[in-house]
This record gives sequence, C-alpha cells and structure tokens, in this order.
Amino acid sequence: MRMREADDLFFDVVSQIHMPAWSSGRVALAGDAAHATSFLSGQGSRVSLVGAYVLAGELAARADHTEAFTAYERITRGFVETNQALATTGGTFVTPTTQEMLDARNAALRDAASLTGDEGRAAHTGLVVPDYRHLG
Ligand SMILES: Cc1cc2nc3c(=O)[nH]c(=O)nc-3n(C[C@H](O)[C@H](O)[C@H](O)COP(=O)(O)OP(=O)(O)OC[C@H]3O[C@@H](n4cnc5c(N)ncnc54)[C@H](O)[C@@H]3O)c2cc1C
Repeated sequence: MRMREADDLFFDVVSQIHMPAWSSGRVALAGDAAHATSFLSGQGSRVSLVGAYVLAGELAARADHTEAFTAYERITRGFVETNQALATTGGTFVTPTTQEMLDARNAALRDAASLTGDEGRAAHTGLVVPDYRHLG
C-alpha cells in the first residue's frame, strides 16, 4: 500500500555476471565486471579482492601476460562460481514472497545466533590463495 503512494520508489533487477572468459588479448576483467555475485549470495567484495590479488600476483610472477591471465582464471574461477551458486538458495531470505516468509526472515534477523550456521562456509573458505610476497 505504502509502495503505491511512494514518490521515491526505487526499482532494479538483481543480476549476476557470468563471463565465458575473463580476458581477451591484453585486457583482463576483475571484480564485478568479471563475475558479479549479487546480494542474493553475498561475497561480492571478497571474491573481487581475491581475484584482484591473484591477478596482480600472477602478472608479477610471469613474464607473459597471457600465461598470467590463464593462471588467474584457473586459480580463481571455481571459487567464484561456488560463491555465485549460493544465490540459488538465498533468494527467499533476502526477498521473501509471502507474509509468512517475511515474518520468518525478520525473526531470524532478530536472533543473530540463528544466522551463524555452516551454510556457505565451504564456499567462503574454498580457496587458499598463493603467497606472492616473495615477488616483492
Ligand atoms: C546493493 C548492493 C549491496 C551489496 N552488498 C554487499 C555486501 O554486503 N558484501 C559484499 O561483499 N558485497 C556486496 N555488494 C557487492 C560489492 O559492492 C561488489 O561486489 C564490489 O563493490 C565489486 O567491486 P568492483 O571493484 O569490482 O566494482 P565497483 O565497486 O562497482 O567499482 C567499479 C568502479 O569503476 C568505476 N567506473 C565505472 N565505469 C568507469 C569508467 N568508464 N571509467 C572510470 N571508472 C569507471 C565506478 O564508478 C566504480 O567506482 C553489494 C552490491 C550492491 C549493489
């Protein structure tokens, strides 16, 4: 009801980015441009930072940028896709479609202890990034 009367209603779509390849020639994508996760799965900042770190590290480690781009995607893509896949289970929590779902979601948010389950943890910790510190 209030939505119908609002004069500042904001409406947008929730999308993910799935690119068949993250690089072409001398250009490589990182972060949301390569693999936006959407807030239905969360983790967008995390996977963006991990990808940027690995991309920079592989470029520092290799003389050939195409080899670096290939290594960057090989190391990171599985981790990214596992986190993107969390969106398929999170939708009704973020955007409940019935009053019952809305009430259950609000109750869960009030009870912080109920939000500390293991769902998603394997995806969140699914990649041990290489250590590039020796590259200076
Ligand atoms: C509503 C919402 C809630 C979110 N909540 C969370 C959350 O709770 N946790 C989480 O981890 N992630 C969250 N995210 C996702 C997170 O914000 C993104 O995954 C993350 O910011 C991606 O970083 P990025 O550097 O790839 O892109 P961005 O942060 O979008 O940075 C891209 C930058 O490029 C600039 N730019 C664009 N075009 C040009 C151009 N032509 N020339 C120069 N500059 C340009 C833009 O202005 C921007 O500053 C959320 C996203 C949204 C939309």
